[in-house]
Amino acid sequence: MALDKDENGIFQVAIDGPSGAGKSTVAKAVAASLGVEYVDTGAMYRAVAHKMRRLGLSLEDAEGIASMLQGTTVDFVGQRLLLDGEDVTDAIRSGAVAKLASDCSALPAVREKLVAAQRAMGEKKSVVMDGRDIGSNVFPRARHKFYLTAAPEERARRRLAELLAKGEDLSFEQVLDDIKLRDHNDSHRALNPLTRTPDAVEIDSTDMTVEAVLAAITGKIMEDRGAAAQAAVL
Ligand code: C5P
Repeated sequence: MALDKDENGIFQVAIDGPSGAGKSTVAKAVAASLGVEYVDTGAMYRAVAHKMRRLGLSLEDAEGIASMLQGTTVDFVGQRLLLDGEDVTDAIRSGAVAKLASDCSALPAVREKLVAAQRAMGEKKSVVMDGRDIGSNVFPRARHKFYLTAAPEERARRRLAELLAKGEDLSFEQVLDDIKLRDHNDSHRALNPLTRTPDAVEIDSTDMTVEAVLAAITGKIMEDRGAAAQAAVL
């Protein structure tokens, strides 16, 4: 799909929403169809959580966390995530890492470091970025903003299927409780909580296929860009 670039040659697509709404599947496909990079910001919080677990750092150890962050690099090479140069793409997908990622993402030092890295990524080249605070905080002036959600039970069903496929043994109730807890933590933390900005297009994917969500998002982006191109010639 060929796209006109914005004035500075770069544009951002922000896709925010709660856990398990299908953001990464859809964001990856949107990025591929636009021919731009995909940045999974949740994976970056997971990478920091993974390192905290390895080092045995507790959430209360502010000094230890600050010095750990100073010596930490989190980069994407294609779809692979490198933590201090090591590929941790698969290692960060466990339930334990997800839980600690949700907790450590409330820490100002962690957010400051990762938000700065995310801005640097999206200022250098066009991106589709998914997370919780992309449209509200990382790129409040993003050209295209979406808020992707789904009923908690449907999100739990999808997450359970993923976890079972990976050999994790959990019940539907456990996954649903975890989703509800993460929803609560993500939308009630003091710093950059999950929120839908008024300029984001909300999509409820509860009864939608991935293809339908993808079509809705790419259709809206093309519509907006077509309108902008027309306005520029008038
Ligand atoms: O999306 P994912 O489940 O991989 O994200 C892991 C955790 O990272 C989330 O529960 C959320 O607390 C945090 N996160 C965040 N801000 C983002 C992306 C993720 O706080 N932009």
